[in-house]
Amino acid sequence: MRALSKLTAGPGLELVDRPEPDCGPADVKIRVLRAGLCGTDLHLREWDEWAAATVQAPLVIGHEFYGEVVEVGEDVSGVEVGARASGEGHIVCGVCRNCRAGRRHLCIRTEGVGVNRDGAFADYVVIPATNVWVQPPGLDPDLGAVFDPLGNATHTALQWPLVGEDVVITGAGPIGVMAAAIARHAGARYVVVSDASDYRLRLAEGAGADVTINVTRQSLVDAQHRLGMKEGFDVGLEMSGAPAAVTDMLDNMNHGGRIALLGLPHQAYTLDWGKVITHMITLKGIYGREMYDTWYAMSQMIATSEVFRTAISSVITHRFVAEDWEPAFDTARSGQCGKVLLDWSR
Ligand code: NAD
Ligand code: ZN
Repeated sequence: MRALSKLTAGPGLELVDRPEPDCGPADVKIRVLRAGLCGTDLHLREWDEWAAATVQAPLVIGHEFYGEVVEVGEDVSGVEVGARASGEGHIVCGVCRNCRAGRRHLCIRTEGVGVNRDGAFADYVVIPATNVWVQPPGLDPDLGAVFDPLGNATHTALQWPLVGEDVVITGAGPIGVMAAAIARHAGARYVVVSDASDYRLRLAEGAGADVTINVTRQSLVDAQHRLGMKEGFDVGLEMSGAPAAVTDMLDNMNHGGRIALLGLPHQAYTLDWGKVITHMITLKGIYGREMYDTWYAMSQMIATSEVFRTAISSVITHRFVAEDWEPAFDTARSGQCGKVLLDWSR
């Protein structure tokens, strides 16, 4: 089969021919139809410090995918050959305190598909049956391929009730734009999105943002003025990993404001802790998706709202056949894009 692989420890990737993965007794084998590029995949190609410290070559990369079940292990029930499915890319240990309490997203030994074990930029991928999310037969395959990042956005955005709240999202990458659509869907009053890229802010407007702020020219104070807001934002969703964005957000929260942080900073940074304390701000770190309540919530939003489906589809801006993985990666790296997909069905 074709597989986009890291063959040696160092920069670069290669599309190689290799044997199909074996399906163990508790596993499911999926013929990949679509796969999505994530910032993680760019780090793996470039081989930064994180990649060098994390990855053992050889490795097939990729963790955002949708496809058709072609084989199920002998111990598997509830997943049938022929079903369409997306995959949860975090594989948990099942025995740590949090796993045993049913809080699997908090597992202390999480392994990543396409990071710590072979992934989905290939014709076939094998994952434990517990990580399979069976999709309705009529789902658009492109939408099926973005459930992983949509899950990050859903997990972050639905930390607190949003009905009537003023929500600020820093970072209009694919996940920030999806979060804008979720906040709109979930009943927020105002949804404000900031980024440094006009291209990406246009995507956020298309997905339901009321006001967008280009941080190279404006700040969140300007958004508050434009909307006639008097006290500050109630809920903040940090989707950039940029320290400056966190500072701007903190400066514009109401007392008692709640901030969920998904964006990963490149290094440690300073924060005005006096403001966090005196403004009684709640900060919560978010990683991955809740297994499987996040999957349930996003599936129902997709199933019940045409507006929501259209908003999420609009985040997918580029599609490439698998052989064109290099221009696909270059497009994702340029930032002049929303979500970039690879079509493995051809
Ligand atoms: P992305 O890199 O495509 O988007 C980040 C956006 O932030 C970019 O558009 C960038 O222009 C913008 N930005 C940079 N500085 C800014 C500033 N000062 N103010 C506002 N915006 C600014 O990333 P993505 O794929 O949309 O993911 C969002 C973030 O979430 C990334 O940091 C990613 O690493 C992280 N992430 C975390 C998890 C998790 O489980 N915690 C999972 C996936 C992604
Ligand atoms: Zn565990």
